[in-house]
Amino acid sequence: MSKIKRIGVLTSGGDAPGMNAAIRAVTRTAIYNGLEVIGIRHGYQGMINGYFKLMKTFHVSDIIQRGGTILKTARCEEFKTTEGRKQAYESLRDRNIDGVVVIGGDGSFTGARIFNEEYNIPFIGIPGTIDNDIYGTDYTIGYDTALNTVIEAVDKIRDTASAHNRLFFIEVMGAEAGFIAVRSGIACGAEAIIIPEVKDQVNNLHAYLEEGYKRKKSSNIIIVAERAYPGGAFGVAEAVKKDFTDYSMRVTVLGHIQRGGSPSAFDRFTASRLGFAAVDALLDDQKSAMVGLQNNEISLVPFSKAVKLHKEVRKDYLEIANILSV
Ligand code: ADP
Repeated sequence: MSKIKRIGVLTSGGDAPGMNAAIRAVTRTAIYNGLEVIGIRHGYQGMINGYFKLMKTFHVSDIIQRGGTILKTARCEEFKTTEGRKQAYESLRDRNIDGVVVIGGDGSFTGARIFNEEYNIPFIGIPGTIDNDIYGTDYTIGYDTALNTVIEAVDKIRDTASAHNRLFFIEVMGAEAGFIAVRSGIACGAEAIIIPEVKDQVNNLHAYLEEGYKRKKSSNIIIVAERAYPGGAFGVAEAVKKDFTDYSMRVTVLGHIQRGGSPSAFDRFTASRLGFAAVDALLDDQKSAMVGLQNNEISLVPFSKAVKLHKEVRKDYLEIANILSV
């Protein structure tokens, strides 16, 4: 029997659609198992300051379909200091919290890993970020919803692009990685996808676009991951504009609409599974690890691996994108 009687749950770092579904799953699984649940508001800042709230089943009613996070999220510099983490430990101990579920990204898991090296209150992570850039899980919560938002927007842009012979550069999020760009690019039939992981794409793009240009393609959609090129989509457009005088060029930065909205069925389902698995892991006396999804099965990945190892964009997806975009 696990000694855990009361757990905390928080969301930290960047928000993502589906975080509420994860909070709901953690809360209800814990209550089902006879545990008490404390919602910690405003991420690690709330842990330090004691922004705690006892969660009952009804507190998580009617949230599975909502974007954002009812617990709010925050970035917290204090947690990066020894003193800040000591205060966090003391507040957890004062409230008899003996396990914590952290829903967040890389940064949040780095903090959790360090905390678990210093203190014996186990932390378990649930990957929540639209960027999908966490090693050890095929999907992060929010990624699928963000993809759906991108393709809906790009479909609309394509209508106007073909009406006017326009070349559209559409910037999507993804931080340092091209996961959103690659998958959304394939899903919306983009003519080219520019991602940080591949070098010299802008030079090749030039040659590639010339082909389409000769064939008088009526529209071109180029998806640009936000950190793929200096200046993002504007930078890419600037770099190629002098050679495409017959096309009018437009840049659209999709921005934070990708972070919001009602989570997709896939994100709700995954958040529910991972929330359930996170409580299971705590009851199994696991610590300093993230629950993830690998080949549609739950996996437990040590934070040390999840934050240190790099998840690669699949090269076969890039090949598919190239072949299908001619
Ligand atoms: P995400 O979890 O989405 O990657 P951040 O990188 O902003 O978001 O990290 C969220 C929070 O995690 C930070 O504000 C900080 O409180 C904590 N954190 C990040 N890096 C560290 C670190 N090296 N040591 C301790 N805490 C950290």
